[in-house]
Amino acid sequence: MIGLISATSAGAAARDRLATAWPDHTRVYDGPVGDAVRRAFAECEQLVCFLATGAVVRLVAPLLIDKASDPGIVCVDEGGRFAVSLVGGHGGGANELAREVGELLGAEPVVTTATDSVGVPGLDMLGLPVEGDVAGVSRAMLDGEPVALNAELAWPLPPLRVAATGEYSIRVSDRAVEPAEREVVLRPPSLVVGVGASKGAPVDEVLGLVQDALRDAGLSVKSVAELATVDAKAEEPGILGAAERLGVPVVTYGAEELATVDVPNPSDAPLAAVGTPSVAEASALLRGGELLVPKRKSAARPAMATCAVVRRPGRGRLAVVGLGPGARDLLTPRAKDELRRASVLVGLDQYVDQIRDLLLPGTRILESGLGAEEERARTAVAEARLGQAVALIGSGDAGVYAMASPALAEASDDIDVVGVPGVTAALAAGAILGAPLGHDHVSISLSDLHTPWEIIERRVRAAAEADLVVTFYNPRSRGRDWQLPKALTILAGHRKPTTPVGVVRSASRPDESSRVTTLAGLDPATVDMMTVVTVGNTATREIAGRMVTPRGYRWQEEPK
Ligand code: SAH
Repeated sequence: MIGLISATSAGAAARDRLATAWPDHTRVYDGPVGDAVRRAFAECEQLVCFLATGAVVRLVAPLLIDKASDPGIVCVDEGGRFAVSLVGGHGGGANELAREVGELLGAEPVVTTATDSVGVPGLDMLGLPVEGDVAGVSRAMLDGEPVALNAELAWPLPPLRVAATGEYSIRVSDRAVEPAEREVVLRPPSLVVGVGASKGAPVDEVLGLVQDALRDAGLSVKSVAELATVDAKAEEPGILGAAERLGVPVVTYGAEELATVDVPNPSDAPLAAVGTPSVAEASALLRGGELLVPKRKSAARPAMATCAVVRRPGRGRLAVVGLGPGARDLLTPRAKDELRRASVLVGLDQYVDQIRDLLLPGTRILESGLGAEEERARTAVAEARLGQAVALIGSGDAGVYAMASPALAEASDDIDVVGVPGVTAALAAGAILGAPLGHDHVSISLSDLHTPWEIIERRVRAAAEADLVVTFYNPRSRGRDWQLPKALTILAGHRKPTTPVGVVRSASRPDESSRVTTLAGLDPATVDMMTVVTVGNTATREIAGRMVTPRGYRWQEEPK
C-alpha cells in the first residue's frame, strides 16, 4: 500500500491524480500532516508526500529504524516538478516509485543513490541475497577502486566492474563462509534440497533436518533455491511449512520420473508408500547437479523426514531482446532492463550502435558484421553455457526474420532463455501508414538467399488468393531486384490496380519517409532494404491520405 499525504490544495490535486491512477494500492491520509505521516509510516510499504523534503525529514527521522524494513518515501514539490526519492531508495523501492510518480505527474524523478545515478549495479539489486560490507564494496566500485571477484560458482551476473585482485572483494558462494572484512558474499540460489516426509511429519522436524544437513555440510541456507519432493507429498503440511519458513518454493515430480534417477541410497519404504525407491535424493538430483549431502534422516524416533542436498550447475541466461524499429521511445522498458542485466552483449554492429549508450560500463560487447548470423547465434549460446548473462539483440522483434530462431536451435535446456518482444517493422510501418493491418494479414520476406524462390512465390500466391494484407520484408536490394515486381504482379492478379500500397523507409529513424501509392503506381526502384512494403486487401482504402483496412466484421452495426 502507498500512503499519500498532502498539505496544500495543489498537493491535494496531485495526490488525487495518483489515487485515481492507482486506486487499488494507494490510501489517502487526511488530517494534520504530522499525524498523517506517522500513521502512513506505520501502515504502508511506501509513502508519497506532497510536502517539502525538510518537513518530511523532520517528521520521519524519529521513526526510521533500518533500511531493510523502513518504507520507501518519495517527496513531490509544490509545483509538481520533481519526485524526490528521499528514503529507502533500493530496499523500500523509492527510486522506482519516484520514476513511476514522475511519469504519472510529468515530474522529473530525482534519485541520489550513487549506484543508480552512475550506472553501477547496486549489490543489493542483483536479486541475490547479499551479506557483508555492502556499503564499503559499493563505494569502492563507485570510486573505481579495484574490486576482486571470487566466483566459486558460475552465475549469470550483470557487469560488475571487477579486477583480478583488490583490497575489496565480491565472493559468489553457497558455502557457509562468513564475509571477510571489506568483502561481500553473494548467495546464488544453487542448492536444491530434496525432502521426503511421512504423513503428518511436523514442520519443525522437516525444517530442523534441512537446517542441520546444510550446517553440517558447511552450506548457506540463503542459497537454497527450492525444496523438491514427490507429487504425492505436494500438500504435506510439514514440507509446505518448512518451505514457507525458508522462503522458497516447493517443486514436485511424479514417482515414475523419480524412479528413473540413479541414486546412491534407494530403499523399499518409499517404494511401497509412493512408488519410487528414492524421494529425497531422486527429487534433488532429477534436474542434474552434484550430490553434496546424501540422504539423511531426522533425529526424531521414529524419523518422519529425510533430506538430501544437491548443488545445481550454474545456469547461464540468454535474453533475446528486440530493440524496436529504431526510435529510443519504441524500445520497451523491459528491453532496456535486459540490456543492463547482461554482462555479455551479442549483436550486429549497427544494432549495437543503436543502444550502446544504455549499456553498463564493463559489458563485454561481441559485435559482428552482416551475414555472420549462425556464428552470432553460436557465440551467444556458448557464452550462456559458460554461466554468463547474455543479451542477444535484434532490431524490431528479435524473433521475426532474426536471431531468435538460430539461437534457440543451438540452445539446449541447460540455459535459461528469456524473450523480450519488440515492435517489428510491419507494426511500426502500419502505425505510420494508418490502419493497414486492421484485418487478417501476413508478412513475407522476399529474400531468397536462404529460401528457394519457389517457396516464396507459393506463399505470395496463397496470400493473393486468400485476400490477405501482405507486408514484404527484405523487399529489394542491389543484387535482388526482380523479386518485388514479380510478387506485386502475382498480387495484381487478384486485386485491382488501385489497391493501396504503403511504402515505409527507416520507420521511426531520423531519415524516416513514407508514402501511400497503388499497385499500379508503385515504382519498385524507389524501394530498398531499409523499406517495408504493405499491400492492402480488396477492401483496403486510402482515406484522407491514410491507408485503412476495414475490420470487416459486422460489430459496428450490432445493437449495444
Ligand atoms: N527483426 C526485424 C526484421 C529483420 S529483416 C523486425 O522485426 O523488424 C530486415 C528487414 O526488415 C528490412 O529489409 C526491412 O524490410 C525491414 N525493416 C527493419 N527495420 C525497419 C525500419 N525501421 N523501417 C522499415 N523497414 C524495416
